[in-house]
Amino acid sequence: MIRVYKDFDDPPAGLVSESCQAQQQKALAEKAQHNFSSHHYRDGTIGTLRKIYKYKCGYCETHESAGASLRVDHYRPKGRVLDVPIHDGYYWLAYEWSNLVLSCEKCNRRKWDHFPIQDEASRVSKPALGKNDLPTQECCRADREILRDERPLLLNPELDDPDKHLIFLPNGTVQAKTKNGAKSIELYFLERDELIKNRKNMTDDILEKLKKHLLKYLKREIDEETYRYAMQDVYEEAAINRQADKAYSRVANALFDDFETFVAAQFPASQQVYIRQSFQLYQQGKLWPVPN
Ligand SMILES: [Zn+2]
Repeated sequence: MIRVYKDFDDPPAGLVSESCQAQQQKALAEKAQHNFSSHHYRDGTIGTLRKIYKYKCGYCETHESAGASLRVDHYRPKGRVLDVPIHDGYYWLAYEWSNLVLSCEKCNRRKWDHFPIQDEASRVSKPALGKNDLPTQECCRADREILRDERPLLLNPELDDPDKHLIFLPNGTVQAKTKNGAKSIELYFLERDELIKNRKNMTDDILEKLKKHLLKYLKREIDEETYRYAMQDVYEEAAINRQADKAYSRVANALFDDFETFVAAQFPASQQVYIRQSFQLYQQGKLWPVPN
């Protein structure tokens, strides 16, 4: 999971159309019984979300090019809250831009209609109404006090900094630093086998190449210049994986942020001095071309 930047003040046209407002009025009257019309967040809305989320799931970072079936997830469930059976769901947020997250089918299925919060006493169960008898912005916007005060336990990629809550490891697993991190790992199913494998493969692929070139150099099968050129190439490839539009970019970043754990520690002790030195030179821009 990485932080995603969305302008809550700029909803897609489909969500502010007259017909959508009419749907919203119906939802207010019908609450949990409302038959939600996905028509308003298909097409324009999902297209805008796909661009904002760079064609990846907002929770697990699986890319649609890798087969992720991406859909609109209501961060706060619209028709019920499984954790609180008497709750009608956040029906007034069904067509609310700041409540819509792009999610893959697998994260979405596990999360379902769960929405745990710190303390049930602060759960919001109905909106305050403003002009035209529509809910006020204050009780609709995910970034405003009323909803923030619920203190949700699920991380929101549009509001939370995932790095404060989750830590990714070289073996592909993810650990929680906080209660919110733990709940998010559980309900977004971030420890499913497929994700562990994909995240591990990303690290392993880079490690394998670095190990191969270093070994050739130490066996004197390649000279210093060839070695440096090859290592530079691998670091550059690893750097491309850090870009927000790449799958599992959080893990690619961890490789740079925690080089010791992700890379150096994966080498035999006798080789660690070489791998550290190559990375240091790369960071200084002195690995390749070799300075005179
Ligand atoms: Zn996902």
